[in-house]
Amino acid sequence: MRITPDDLYPDPLDIDVTLQPGAVDYALDLEQNGPLHVKARAERIEEHRGPKDVVLDIRLRGTVDGAFQAICGRCTTPIPQRVSESFDLIFRPSGTDAGLGERAITEAETEIGYYEPSGLSLEDVVREQVLLTLPERALCREDCKGLCPHCGENRNERDCDCESKQIDSRWNALQGFSAN
Ligand SMILES: [Zn+2]
Ligand SMILES: [Zn+2]
Repeated sequence: MRITPDDLYPDPLDIDVTLQPGAVDYALDLEQNGPLHVKARAERIEEHRGPKDVVLDIRLRGTVDGAFQAICGRCTTPIPQRVSESFDLIFRPSGTDAGLGERAITEAETEIGYYEPSGLSLEDVVREQVLLTLPERALCREDCKGLCPHCGENRNERDCDCESKQIDSRWNALQGFSAN
């Protein structure tokens, strides 16, 4: 779904959509589990920068709510995640601030994004909000022991003896060496 300032004039646009899994690509290790609800209001904001310089911004505020499944970064176990977040964002036409340089954007404006001439993609906004909410690297638990690099066993579930075998073989090699 794309939103342009023309869609928001004279009246703001109320959005109430359900995105099915697959509608948005998140990350390789993150999947949407079931429908995702997005409720938002999009408004057109006129930013007066000079007597004849009016920038048409899109303000989007609302909530995103749904279930996700991340993958543990150590043992690849699926981890259910819940996203229920509200957002309030401003989007300017892309290229608007190109001449200003990064420093001109003040701290209070860090929530500012940009929309393309074809409009603001709701799916892009949703993806960004979901990824911001969830930890960058998910772990099934803080002390996850991960997979054994030798046999692939999930060491949270079962201890394999690969490591002790390795130590044994090193020890044997050493003994053999000293015996010669
Ligand atoms: Zn894990
Ligand atoms: Zn092992």
